[in-house]
Amino acid sequence: MVERRKPIPVTEAVNRVMTHAKPKESEWVTLEACDGRVLAQEIKADHDVPPFDRSPYDGFAIKSADTWGGSKDTPITLDIIEAIGAGDVALQKLASGQAIRIMTGAQLPLGADAIIMLELVKEQLTNGTPQIVIKREVTLGDNISRQGEDTKKGTVLIEKGDAITPGVKAILATFGYAKVEVVKQPRVGVLATGSELLDPDQALVPGKIRNSNAYMVMSQLKKAGAIPINLGKLADNLELSFKAVKEALDEVDVLITTGGVSVGDFDFLPVIYERLGATVLFNKIAMRPGSVTTVASLGGKILFGLSGNPSACFVGFELYAAPYLQALQGKTKKYMQRTKARLAADFPKPNPFTRFVRSRVEFEDGMVKARPVGLDKSNVVTSLAWANALTVLPGGTRGYREGDLVDLLMLDGEGSGEFDLENLSNRRVQK
Ligand code: AMP
Ligand code: MG
Repeated sequence: MVERRKPIPVTEAVNRVMTHAKPKESEWVTLEACDGRVLAQEIKADHDVPPFDRSPYDGFAIKSADTWGGSKDTPITLDIIEAIGAGDVALQKLASGQAIRIMTGAQLPLGADAIIMLELVKEQLTNGTPQIVIKREVTLGDNISRQGEDTKKGTVLIEKGDAITPGVKAILATFGYAKVEVVKQPRVGVLATGSELLDPDQALVPGKIRNSNAYMVMSQLKKAGAIPINLGKLADNLELSFKAVKEALDEVDVLITTGGVSVGDFDFLPVIYERLGATVLFNKIAMRPGSVTTVASLGGKILFGLSGNPSACFVGFELYAAPYLQALQGKTKKYMQRTKARLAADFPKPNPFTRFVRSRVEFEDGMVKARPVGLDKSNVVTSLAWANALTVLPGGTRGYREGDLVDLLMLDGEGSGEFDLENLSNRRVQK
């Protein structure tokens, strides 16, 4: 008799997985190698930025009072006593009647209280003395980039648990982090099950298909900051599969299998979990696609049993494996970012379970819209390439129409610290 499985809500399933997520220890990596990693330390400004008053333009450092009364008719003349570029410090202190030629980024000379841009002065030589002529008044403090105007010493700039983006990297370099403390990345094994599977370099033969899931999942793993380990593919043979899963668990922090979690004659994962003595956290979720997604735990390690159907495999990974793996890395924003948009097309199917429609969020007709892409079936592979979001249609709703406001989970978003799909305000707009 086929086992009857009781579906649990998506949020409940996510929470069950996340209770097992304990951040890994930290390690120090070089600034060059830290992209995308999660900070294990907060980053605090240990000096002002900029660290000294400086010139934001190429120009002349002057005493503003020298220009008072200056105009077209009564031009002011100042002697140029020195020239400094970025990185130089003026040797002389500016006195009244003098100017120092200064380039962008150079420290403001002592005695100067304003900068006048190169374009606003005329240069001349009088008896061998270089001079500038100014035909206007300059206000005290003009064109000075002040010490600490960007950031004050002591400010916390980046929190522990934030990912290192290009902008964060600039901050790390600014404050002298040649090495940075980040959380270790989990090593995740990927095993694709199915006697029908061929490698990408194999020619198609009747009855077989190429293994796309393993490559897709390894790519998703990289995006989630984990280290993917391709453990190959397995024919649907219980003994061999059991051995492969057991051995794989010794090698990795987390194991992902694809296929074989349903109730078919060759779906061996449920038996394998039982034989291993693993605790199954759930094996049926009220969602489409991917209702058979199964998660089990054994000796502190989590086994994700994703569906073999590519779309279901993809969605199962994003909903359950991605946040778990990011939590292992101590990341705060570990869930998909949620937003709202209007549907760009009708979606007539009813939704007995919460449905995650592969969608493309685009700017159309002056607003952001979500367009379902490709065929909405769990066994579809091509639509995944066009999707940049999942439209969430709550269980128990009927079809949706173009223009309805729907909830979206962004696949390429910044992430979110929260996840709760149980009370979506998402509803149909009657036309
Ligand atoms: P299963 O979950 O094993 O019942 O597989 C469900 C469907 O997904 C079947 O049509 C499989 O042929 C297909 N499938 C399973 N594994 C993969 C894979 N690694 N790549 C692409 N399709 C797969
Ligand atoms: Mg199979």
